[in-house]
Amino acid sequence: MRPRRVEFPRTAEAVQRAVTAAAAGGLQIKAVGAGHSFTGIAVAPGVLLDLSDLTGMVAIDVERRRVTLRAGTRLHQVPAILAPYGLAMENLGDIDRQSISGAISTGTHGTGARFGGIAAQVVGATLVTASGELLTVSETENAELLPAVALGLGALGILVEVTVQCVPAFVLHAVEQSESLDAVLARLDERVDGADHFEFYWFPHTDRAMTKTNTRLPESAPRHPLSPVGRWVDDTLVGSGLHQIACSVAKTIPPTIPPINRLSVKMWGNREFTDLSSRVFATTRSVRFREMEYALPAENVIPAFDELRALIDRRRWRISFPVEVRFAAADDRWLSTAHGRASGYIAVHRYWREDPTEYFAAVEEIMLEHDGRPHWGKMHTLDAAALRERYPRFDDFTALRDRLDPERLFQNPYLARVLDG
Ligand SMILES: Cc1cc2nc3c(=O)[nH]c(=O)nc-3n(C[C@H](O)[C@H](O)[C@H](O)COP(=O)(O)OP(=O)(O)OC[C@H]3O[C@@H](n4cnc5c(N)ncnc54)[C@H](O)[C@@H]3O)c2cc1C
Repeated sequence: MRPRRVEFPRTAEAVQRAVTAAAAGGLQIKAVGAGHSFTGIAVAPGVLLDLSDLTGMVAIDVERRRVTLRAGTRLHQVPAILAPYGLAMENLGDIDRQSISGAISTGTHGTGARFGGIAAQVVGATLVTASGELLTVSETENAELLPAVALGLGALGILVEVTVQCVPAFVLHAVEQSESLDAVLARLDERVDGADHFEFYWFPHTDRAMTKTNTRLPESAPRHPLSPVGRWVDDTLVGSGLHQIACSVAKTIPPTIPPINRLSVKMWGNREFTDLSSRVFATTRSVRFREMEYALPAENVIPAFDELRALIDRRRWRISFPVEVRFAAADDRWLSTAHGRASGYIAVHRYWREDPTEYFAAVEEIMLEHDGRPHWGKMHTLDAAALRERYPRFDDFTALRDRLDPERLFQNPYLARVLDG
């Protein structure tokens, strides 16, 4: 779906003018961040607001460790903004290409049982509502709206500023290794609770898990970063180049997938390094794929994962992309996948040239049986009726949306399905 018009506002006032003009012209309007969602959540049928020119820092409160960012700021720009003040974001996802607004609006998260997703770090925001007015939300102003606005699916208005609670800059000691999958599962609770940030990848058709265990250390801790050559070999040559070739071969000759996966596990190998947090959290992903991810109550991760393994065996599918398992603390954002419960995430991927429908549908069935909630920016088939049952504050969110956007100025087909349908 192509937008009727694209605008590049540089200021909050320009966003206000764009919203008012769209409403007057009978067009819907949506902001797009980096366009990294796998769903149609960012599709803009009317006016598309590209916020590439609305970036950078608005203000910083060093004492309270809070930064206010313009809404289009990309996550990879944030470390340089915060570094002079000795601050960092508390936790991040796998990549840093997203905009701050896009990331929080879909509930983007990383891993770590004691840490929430990025929206949980938000302590304030300013948005332009459908009337064209600015609405400021913080712990002292319209505070009751913060848990909705901080993770609003782009349905409540156009964010123009986001205030993030930061932490003192820190480094991460990263240990990445290949381990027996069964051994990892046998001690999963211990591994998750005993680490600051634990996750694992499982390559289907192998009995190995690639684990990542990151430990937070003070900024003054000695650093042993990956050498630029080592990083290039791991991330660009093996992680992207060879993986791209492997996926293309696997697509053409599916029986090669199990041996390729076994080889991938060997090539990814073990490594250990210590570096600034943002350099450890963010990786590069240049092989294109489609993804579905479900959040489950943490205690349901193992039973759901076991069923997923059995499913792949039973159906004799050949799956070239790994399954990723992560964890997060409970939070209070109304539409957070981790709302009110400690959560584990199971993500399945397929190379973009392979049809994901059958695999994702069967996995989705398992996730739903285990009380799963789908990631808002990743593929799923649920509609409003199914989602309402899974979110205790769903009706509060839609009531707020009715109030802020009664004419559905910020609507698109995806939002119609998940919020109205
Ligand atoms: C390679 C890759 C890796 C990923 N890794 C992770 C991961 O580790 N963890 C995870 O949870 N997710 C991950 N994702 C998903 C991704 O983080 C989300 O889809 C995120 O929303 C993308 O951010 P974006 O800036 O591209 O937003 P977009 O996709 O452009 O937009 C997402 C939503 O935000 C809204 N929005 C954007 N800007 C504004 C604004 N100013 N005001 C109001 N609404 C706005 C849009 O309208 C839309 O509804 C990954 C995706 C990819 C492609």
